[in-house]
Amino acid sequence: MVTKKIDKSEVNTFYQSKYDYYRMPSYVSALLTGFLETTYFVSDCQIFGRFAIETLIPRFFILIPLILLALLEPRIKNYRVAVFAYYSIAHAAMWCTIWAIWYLPNKDFAREGFIIMHLAFIAIGLAMPVKYQIPVHSGVILNIIISNMWNHYEHVDLMISLAVPVWIGASILMIILENSYADQYLIRKQLEKNSTTDNLTEAYNRNKFEEIAESDHEMPAEAANASVVILMIDIDKFKRVNDTYGHDAGDKVLVFLTERIKACIRATDLVIRWGGEEFVVLLMGASTTVGLKIAEHIRHSVETTENEVCPITISVGVSQYDGKNYHEAVKRADKALYYAKEHGRNLVVHYDDIAEEIAPASKDKNKKEKSKKK
Ligand code: GH3
Ligand code: MG
Ligand code: MG
Repeated sequence: MVTKKIDKSEVNTFYQSKYDYYRMPSYVSALLTGFLETTYFVSDCQIFGRFAIETLIPRFFILIPLILLALLEPRIKNYRVAVFAYYSIAHAAMWCTIWAIWYLPNKDFAREGFIIMHLAFIAIGLAMPVKYQIPVHSGVILNIIISNMWNHYEHVDLMISLAVPVWIGASILMIILENSYADQYLIRKQLEKNSTTDNLTEAYNRNKFEEIAESDHEMPAEAANASVVILMIDIDKFKRVNDTYGHDAGDKVLVFLTERIKACIRATDLVIRWGGEEFVVLLMGASTTVGLKIAEHIRHSVETTENEVCPITISVGVSQYDGKNYHEAVKRADKALYYAKEHGRNLVVHYDDIAEEIAPASKDKNKKEKSKKK
């Protein structure tokens, strides 16, 4: 079964993804099943040789749950709710058929109608977990057995012996389809991971940052009140590490730094390898005070924890995301980092604390540039 391929903790996400992928064909099949059930009214009229007034209500009764489904479907997000809603339509269609058959003089024609129900269960089952599909589909056989109590089909034994192989065949088909969707799901996940993860450190790469930056101006409601603190981290004198111990040893130090950062932050925070030996950390929902504390914790942890190459220190620039522009926030953190480098390294500097100090410098620079142009 699919649980051999998909980790147990991820099964729900997998089923939700399968449902999201097949939602439309499955939903349309549920609607079609209901609509097509009403068209059997034509064959009822042929059997009676007149307008089959008796089966009019049973045949068209299905429209009530069908309209309900059409109204509610856009609100269905969870695959479990969809399982209940779509299969209910298939079973309701079958029971409307059983109801109509009760009035028919020749109940043998029910056989074709019931065979077609299998197709409906297969089509609806595309979006459903196989573990639900197999038992719910077997309900077709159960419905035949139950309704035989009063409908007394001429050949109930034949109906069942035709239905069982169809059910078995459909179940095998569903298992095969779910397995191949699992392969597709795993490949897609791997691709997504590769495109946003740095191979060496397993931290995120800049693609992830760009993804997050796209949410500028549209912060989710729960994050709107909470701020994001940005840390820009750079190893001090890293060139020396490479020059003294070699590039491979340098790589080990980069892995060590990533581990240290991850050890000091929460699972909801993000570590991004910005480039070379620079890392950006996004502390989600952190205040400035908490952000500074975490930055200091990381700096201290890197300085005091032994790694297999050599002792290292880092400098950290800190800034606050204003809910509008991630790129600007990173630029501010970078300016704070530059300041830390200029003022002795192995330091944590918040942009707000130096903004005034560096502002005149940039004005002077502008003035100089203007006078140069003149
Ligand atoms: P500073 O304190 O001013 O930051 O000094 P620094 O020597 O760290 O200077 P800089 O940040 O400019 O150095 C970056 C170095 O990082 C240069 C490059 O050799 C090294 N580097 C970049 N990417 C990698 C990598 O993937 N592996 C290794 N081993 N080294 C890298
Ligand atoms: Mg450096
Ligand atoms: Mg650098």
